[in-house]
Amino acid sequence: MVNEPLYKDIVGFTKLKNSTLVAVSKIKPAADIQKMYDMGQRDFGENYVQEMVEKQAQLPADILWHFIGHLQTNKVKYIAPFVHLIQSVDSEKLLKEIDKQAAKNNRKINVLLQMHIAEEQTKFGFDEQELMNLDVSLYPNVNVTGLMGMATFTDDKEKVKREFEQLQSYYNNFEDAKKVELNTLSMGMSDDYELAIHCGSNMIRIGSLLFGKRS
Ligand SMILES: *Cc1c(COP(=O)(O)O)cnc(C)c1O
Repeated sequence: MVNEPLYKDIVGFTKLKNSTLVAVSKIKPAADIQKMYDMGQRDFGENYVQEMVEKQAQLPADILWHFIGHLQTNKVKYIAPFVHLIQSVDSEKLLKEIDKQAAKNNRKINVLLQMHIAEEQTKFGFDEQELMNLDVSLYPNVNVTGLMGMATFTDDKEKVKREFEQLQSYYNNFEDAKKVELNTLSMGMSDDYELAIHCGSNMIRIGSLLFGKRS
């Protein structure tokens, strides 16, 4: 099920804010993606390798596939030929493997570094120290184009806001310290995307608002 009026509202909002909407289609059927594609959507986010590979094979070739889930190093090879942006790079070991698979496929792969900003320990990502110690020039087949993060799952908007502000400051500090050019700050989901954009996000990842709740 695709919520067309809400989709149009959110597209309008993101255009106004110069932000990119990634429609998170995990667990949803390919038919839902096709429907939203027909409305003009091109960026889709998936969390599971096998599911993304299967959908990619049966849907239009100009879809921009974003991988946003926890990625195991032994599965990078399956998405390396076609993935548009891996947003969930949470370790240097993974970065190294993406570099290797990019070279094998004769391409550069765009990635975001996932930062751990939430209080939950179950969430993945680099901490500030690890980020600042990272030397991205060791991985020439990878383009690090920005950062991604997920806030704590809570109704406390002030807390979420502090976490988003933290991520934005990591983004600025990393750019300044490493002299790298970043262009993507991916933060904000169904419950907090307006706040995220207010805090400097230029890429939001929306699932349940567009496709309905996941079972
Ligand atoms: C599932 C998921 C989303 C979308 O979440 P909704 O609350 O359904 O909008 C966004 N980002 C990541 C990393 C996800 O895993």
